[in-house]
Amino acid sequence: MRRTDHSRPRRRTLVLAAAAVLAVPAVAVPAAVATEPSPSSADAEAAGLPSGNTAYRTLADYEADMAALVAEHPDLVKPVTLPYPTTSGRTVRGIEISTNVQADDGKPVFVDVGMHHGNEFPSGELTMEYAIDLVESAAAGDRYVTRLLDRARVVVVPIVNVDGFVRGRRQTDTNTDMNRNYGMGWLPISTGGAAPWSEPETRNIEWLLSTRQAVVFNTQHTCIQVVLYPPLQLAAGPAQDVGRLHALASEIAAIYGPGYDALPSAEDYETTGEAIDWAYYATRGLSITTETCPDSGVARTYQTQVLDVYDEHREAMFTALETAADPGQYAVIDGKGPKGAVLRITKAFDMYTSPYLQPDGSTRPTSFTTTLESDLTIDSRNGKFEWAVNPSYRPIPAYQEDGVHGFQTGFYEEPWILTCELPDGTVLQTVPVNVNLGETATVDLKECRREFHQARP
Ligand SMILES: [Zn+2]
Repeated sequence: MRRTDHSRPRRRTLVLAAAAVLAVPAVAVPAAVATEPSPSSADAEAAGLPSGNTAYRTLADYEADMAALVAEHPDLVKPVTLPYPTTSGRTVRGIEISTNVQADDGKPVFVDVGMHHGNEFPSGELTMEYAIDLVESAAAGDRYVTRLLDRARVVVVPIVNVDGFVRGRRQTDTNTDMNRNYGMGWLPISTGGAAPWSEPETRNIEWLLSTRQAVVFNTQHTCIQVVLYPPLQLAAGPAQDVGRLHALASEIAAIYGPGYDALPSAEDYETTGEAIDWAYYATRGLSITTETCPDSGVARTYQTQVLDVYDEHREAMFTALETAADPGQYAVIDGKGPKGAVLRITKAFDMYTSPYLQPDGSTRPTSFTTTLESDLTIDSRNGKFEWAVNPSYRPIPAYQEDGVHGFQTGFYEEPWILTCELPDGTVLQTVPVNVNLGETATVDLKECRREFHQARP
């Protein structure tokens, strides 16, 4: 993957310069004062989070921070409300960040979420701080960030398990580990939930990734030093895109530090029903679990888990965002349609859990349908559009109708079904589109242009 570190804002250098300036008056401070036990906020200033925070946020703090970004930078930020309230009725919120964020411009997408596990507070903090960093950097005219946000869109949901966060515990309010509840390969383990996708929190992420064409999906966790990618089970064998997955994960791991590994999740420890497995095999977006943790023997504090790792985290997330913006990592559908028409791409397919003992006494997988659907309204005057999408070729997963068949190397040839529609949903033209990574498929929408103008003279 391309390295463009040299063009990144030299945040650390600036911070060090500021710290040096601040340190000057300290020379004059009497020794007795200078040797007082200094609160962690002294180090906090030196490291410097984008928010300036020195302690963990409450839920109200997260919501206030997201609302403030939306209110202060409507050109850069818009709210995202996930469709399913949590078990205890709480709303799960996020924000979308890009230059000209209100436009329907088909940019590639990076989805970044925190707090699948409600007691892993640093994962929410790092995710929120990066969002603030992006917005404030772009608002301040930072060229590196602005150029990236000209080319890509970022969707951030800092707390996906809001009930767990409020209670300070790993599980949701049904005592389910939502990162064991995703349907693909699911097993009825004690924390897996009553059924695949039983949790509204899990369905929120299903919805998000089913509608966003995410090129990169990062789910942030603590506390291991590792960046994980699919699959979750050794029996599944390597993912078809193992080269790309490992390249991204290892680049990110190297940024966090020498103690960090990049490896398939199955080689860390085997699980089932995690977000990254379904996400990759359904969408082919590069899906990673990033786990940060202080070195062994270092106390786990706000200082060591948030402040001390933030500079590396931002660098890591810029790598993820650059990858999402890299045309080699997504497919493009382009063409010329009528201004005002709605383009929609869909595909629906069955996926399977692991085999397990069913109520009827048989041992077999349960099937579920994944439907991917995204839309784009043509808003350029000349009707031209360029839409970054996931490839239409879907990796064949190990989990099949009749059990686990690992070490798959192939892809399903399932075209995107593109429809060109009136704003009221009337379909004027349907075109199947096959398009692979790094390719552009140009669709001919003459029929839609003609019909659209007849319907709307
Ligand atoms: Zn976790």
